[in-house]
Amino acid sequence: MNRREMMKGLGVSAAAGAFGFLGSKNEAMAQTYSKATNGLAPLKITKVRAIPTNPQGQRLIVVKVETSEPGLYGLGCATFNQRATTVINAVDEFLDPFARGRDVDTIEDIWQTAYTSSYWRNGPVLNNALSGLDQALWDIKGKRANMPVYQLLGGKCRFAADCYSHSSGRDLQELEDSVEKNMARGFRHIRIQLGGYGSSHLSESADFKEQGFGLPSDTLMDARPYLKATPKMFEHIRNKFGDDLELLHDVHERIEPIDAIRLLKELEKYRPFFIEDPVSPEQIGYFRMLRQQTSVPIAMGELFNSPHEWVGLMSERLIDFIRVHISQVGGLTVARKIATLGEWFNVRSAWHGPGDVSPVGHAANVHLDLAIPNFGIQESIVFRDSTQEVFPGCPVVKNGYFHLHEGPGWGVEINEEAARKFPFPSDPGFWRPVRRRDGTSVRP
Ligand code: MG
Repeated sequence: MNRREMMKGLGVSAAAGAFGFLGSKNEAMAQTYSKATNGLAPLKITKVRAIPTNPQGQRLIVVKVETSEPGLYGLGCATFNQRATTVINAVDEFLDPFARGRDVDTIEDIWQTAYTSSYWRNGPVLNNALSGLDQALWDIKGKRANMPVYQLLGGKCRFAADCYSHSSGRDLQELEDSVEKNMARGFRHIRIQLGGYGSSHLSESADFKEQGFGLPSDTLMDARPYLKATPKMFEHIRNKFGDDLELLHDVHERIEPIDAIRLLKELEKYRPFFIEDPVSPEQIGYFRMLRQQTSVPIAMGELFNSPHEWVGLMSERLIDFIRVHISQVGGLTVARKIATLGEWFNVRSAWHGPGDVSPVGHAANVHLDLAIPNFGIQESIVFRDSTQEVFPGCPVVKNGYFHLHEGPGWGVEINEEAARKFPFPSDPGFWRPVRRRDGTSVRP
C-alpha cells in the first residue's frame, strides 16, 4: 500500500480524529476538508529549511518543506548563486516561522501572504526564498494527488520541451567545432557566443589595470571588438551549417543601447531565433525604437524581479520571448501567470536554465514548458554525475528535447547525505566587475 492509499484508507473520521478535528463543528469542517482533498487528511507545514549543495560547481539551494504527514515533504529551488547564504538566512529565519502551521494545500494564499510578509518586497533574495517554499508546496500537492505537477496545470501540450544548447569558442574554428558537437547530440537550436559574454577576450588594453584602478581581478569589456566580431560569427556559422539550424545569441547588455539597435539590424539577415538582453533592464525604454527598426526576435527578462516589469513589454508586443529565472520571481505560482500574460500577446516562454538553477528548478521549468500553449524554447544543461547523485530524477536531454523523470510532484528527489559532500566554496561568489578600458563600470 502506498502512502496515498494508506491515507485514503484511514477514511474521513479516522483522519479527522488523527488531526484533532472530532467534535460537532470541527467534524463538519473535517468532512468539508476531506471532500475538497479527495479523502486526504488536512495537512500542516511543520518545517521549512534550506539545503545548500554545490555538486554542479554552483551554490545551489533547495528548500525542503516538511508536513504533518510523516514522510511527506516537498522540494523547491531557491538558488541565488551570488548571494547564497543570504537566501538561506531568509528561508531559515523568516519563512520557516512564517509558514509553520499553515495548510499545505493553500499555495496561492501562502504565496500572497508570504510575499507581503516583509512589507517591502520584490528583491532577488526574498523572491528566491519564496520560490523555495512555493515550489515545494506544488511538489507536495503533486505527491498528494499522485500526479506530476504538469497534470495539475492542465496536462501536456507537447511530449517534451525542445531546448537549446550552448556553443562558444575563442575563435571561429573552436565555435564551429562546438556547434558540430551539439548538432551531433541532436540539438536543433544552439546559442552561439564568441568567447564569454561580450567576447571580452577580444579586448586589448585594460588601461585601468595598468593605472591601478579597481582590482586586478576585475574584467575588461571593450564594445568595439565585440560589435565587429558578432556579425562575422553569425555569417560564418550560417554559411557553414546552412539555414535549418536555429541560432541564438545573448548580448548580456554590456553595450550602448544605440549600438545594440545597429547590431541587431546587422544580424537580421542571418535570421536569429532570438537575440537576448540587447539592453539592460534599466534601458527598456529603447525597446520601442528597436522594434521599429528590426524584425529580429528579442528575448528579455531574466534580470527582472517583479512580474509587473514584464507587463509593458508584453502588452506593447515589444518582445517575442520572455526570459524568466523562475526562482528569481518567486516560484511557479507567479511564473505560470507570466506565461498566461504572454499567451495573450503572443510572447513565448524561454525560462532561464543555466547551471545556477538546481535540478528541482530545471524540473519546474520543464513542467511549465509542457503545460503552457505559448512555450517557445527551453535553455538546457548537462547535469554532472555528482549532481545526479545528489538529485535522483534530474530531467534528461534526448535528441535536443528535455524529458522529465515522470513521477508525482516534480519527479526529482534529494539525497541529503550526498548533498553534504559538496559544500559551498569559501569565496562568496560575487559577479566580477566588468569595466571599459578606462575603468568605467559596465552593466554585466
Ligand atoms: Mg541571459
